[in-house]
Amino acid sequence: MTHEIPASFKALVLRQDDGKTISAIEQLTKDDLPEGDVLLSVDYSSINYKDSMAVTGTGKIIRTWPMVPGIDLTGTVIESQADSYKLGDKVLLTGWSVGEQYWGGYSQYQRVQSKWLIPLPEAIDGKTAMAIGTAGLTAMLCIMALEDANVKPDSGPVVVTGAGGGVGSVAVAILSNLGYNVTAVSGRKSTHDYLKSLGAKEIISREEMLKPSRPLEAQRWSGAVDTAGDAILARVLAETDYNGAVAACGLAAGYKLPTTVMPFILRNVRLQGVDSVMCPNERRQIAWKRLAQDLPQNALSEINRVVALEDVKQVAEDMMNGQNQGRVVVDLNA
Ligand code: NDP
Repeated sequence: MTHEIPASFKALVLRQDDGKTISAIEQLTKDDLPEGDVLLSVDYSSINYKDSMAVTGTGKIIRTWPMVPGIDLTGTVIESQADSYKLGDKVLLTGWSVGEQYWGGYSQYQRVQSKWLIPLPEAIDGKTAMAIGTAGLTAMLCIMALEDANVKPDSGPVVVTGAGGGVGSVAVAILSNLGYNVTAVSGRKSTHDYLKSLGAKEIISREEMLKPSRPLEAQRWSGAVDTAGDAILARVLAETDYNGAVAACGLAAGYKLPTTVMPFILRNVRLQGVDSVMCPNERRQIAWKRLAQDLPQNALSEINRVVALEDVKQVAEDMMNGQNQGRVVVDLNA
């Protein structure tokens, strides 16, 4: 099987001009692509919070210029110097600083390192994998962290913050499907029906969770998936049950943590950080297997929408304004 690469193909490229990030769709050639032992025809990518930061030039996400962003991709191997992959293999890549330091998924063709790839899990097609993406993988890693801390469906209510976003939506859907009693925290009334359809039993406002907390508050949560950080994470910790656990993965509200040691030393609360970027391949593969098994298809179709490369900039701006709902898949051939 051979695959002819066209003379040129499209990619979203970020360049710096006088300290400002400029994003544009450009025509690239095979020779423009970086070094790597596997050449892929990219089928789908996705838009995560980090991608939005990169595309809008928020924070210091990009480490080399010019950059093709897109921290996630699925595609088909069209050239391989790696023993582990052959022509026609369907593969999946998330994280490993791709889309930050190395060129990523917002290109119809991309050359990457085989060590960053995993075979596309059998039960999942490329579009579904990108509907899950880094956000969904992170949600699953958070849930696995709660399980490691012995938080069980019958342990009591669990809370998910930033619930309307990508990580939050997938976490709500999986936890509900596993039988947990899920409370969703959302800053938008418009997400309430959506979050209920994903299985949330209760919804509380972001405003309520932003109120400054005392070192210890009444115990409400056996576990938590926190995508917000800052005052929201501080309140979650103060409200977590004796022996409960909090998986912290995000900073949608801010990177600070205005808390005290009280939840840890008086209630035995566990705060577990969760990173998906450098997560070892072994744990990733377990997480993807769990995603195929524990995230119901109907919830996933509710969660995701598909856009073209030309739409990425607008979606990124909406995301930075806190307006994103669920997951956004990018179809490179749309
Ligand atoms: P999204 O933009 O899809 O979701 C973030 C959600 O947070 C929003 O939809 C909104 O939900 C809520 N939110 C927005 N602004 C604020 C605010 N000022 N205060 C509190 N909540 C807010 O992003 P993702 O779901 O992709 O990512 C969520 C977070 O997780 C990000 O901080 C991201 O960097 C982090 N992340 C970390 C990873 C890791 O490996 N550790 C991997 C992936 C993501 P609502 O309106 O419902 O409140």
